[in-house]
Amino acid sequence: MQIAGLLQPLLAQLNSGVLVLDAEYRLVFINQFIARRANLVLAEVQGRLLFDVFTDLPRAWLQRKLDSVQELQIPAFSNWEQRQYIFKLPHLRPLSTGSQYMAQNCSIMPLSSADNNAGYICILIEDATDAFVYQQQLHSSMQQLEQANRIDGLTGIFNRRYWQQQLQLELQRATRYQHPLSLLLFDLDKFKQLNDTYGHQGGDAVLISVSQQIATLLRDTDIFGRYGGEEFGVILPETALSGAMMVANRVCQAIASQTVSYNQQHIAVTLSIGVASFTGQSIDELIQQTDIALYNAKRQGRNCVRAYASEQNYLKKVN
Ligand code: GH3
Ligand code: MG
Ligand code: MG
Repeated sequence: MQIAGLLQPLLAQLNSGVLVLDAEYRLVFINQFIARRANLVLAEVQGRLLFDVFTDLPRAWLQRKLDSVQELQIPAFSNWEQRQYIFKLPHLRPLSTGSQYMAQNCSIMPLSSADNNAGYICILIEDATDAFVYQQQLHSSMQQLEQANRIDGLTGIFNRRYWQQQLQLELQRATRYQHPLSLLLFDLDKFKQLNDTYGHQGGDAVLISVSQQIATLLRDTDIFGRYGGEEFGVILPETALSGAMMVANRVCQAIASQTVSYNQQHIAVTLSIGVASFTGQSIDELIQQTDIALYNAKRQGRNCVRAYASEQNYLKKVN
């Protein structure tokens, strides 16, 4: 074909890979784009089977695609989102992409004409590494944003909004599977006084240290969040009241038994904890009951744990 000669410079310049196969999937042609990246010479690979030259192709998948293109005489496509690459070629980019291989959009087309029905196939490889890199960067920014959205800036634990969302989800789960769940709310004792004595920064250091210490006392499945200024909440899935009381007492004692180091000073901290268990009440009711228990712990001397007792509600109603 004369036209082939005319097209040679174009194929050499093309910033995409072109491979032409015969009906047996032997290489008839590869352009410079492929030759350079795969370190091949056209004259040396002409006539050799595609799968013998490129030994790490997804063979079963590609064979199926080629067969169907040949049989149906209609093109097939694969983009980098479905399959990052088909030919393991370097992408020649200085950027760190998380992958050394070129992401590819690939078209497999039947090459036939009125005077040629020999079943040639062209594989066109377009470099999609830029799109792949941008998508990776976007994904990682989204993840960072999502993480920032759920984390309290000072303590690094969950913020109130995310914590409450999780409580809602956990209550739905507990209801659906009839599993126990308990809630702890705790509030640092005499924190205003602590701020007055050590300054707001001293207070902040205490909040950071106490939340770190408490996190080490919880299970991975417990959900720990900052509920307000110096108030915290822990959702304890799969935990009935007795277990929750044990956790709360452990936290209360651990905090009281240590001091927080700040500016060469040792700050003593205690906290009061309210505990309530889920028995089918609404999220607001459960939080309110836990708050009542916390209020009782404060009233009864602080540095202690109190559980919500349902008869309190009853007593309130009859009085
Ligand atoms: P109680 O034992 O009754 O809880 O006494 P309290 O002094 O802790 O009382 P209260 O809960 O009313 O006071 C909370 C104080 O916590 C008031 C506020 O200035 C302080 N606070 C809230 N958020 C922060 C914060 O992010 N950093 C610091 N350093 N202090 C905070
Ligand atoms: Mg408070
Ligand atoms: Mg307080």
